[in-house]
Amino acid sequence: MSTRGSGPLDLAFHHVLTCPCGDTLTAATEDEIVEVSFAHLRERHPELAGDYGREHILAMAQRLVRP
Ligand SMILES: [Zn+2]
Repeated sequence: MSTRGSGPLDLAFHHVLTCPCGDTLTAATEDEIVEVSFAHLRERHPELAGDYGREHILAMAQRLVRP
């Protein structure tokens, strides 16, 4: 394992959530993916929006290396 600082490496990651409807949502930070996902739920799946919390969104989102 490298002992270099990990700060700048964080910039190489993003959060990706693939909604069951087929839409792929992406964001740079955890807070942003939660925000983007709730906006999508409210717009496309209002009947589900009330059932999901931040922890559900983060459980479904993947932290991936940015292409
Ligand atoms: Zn959807």
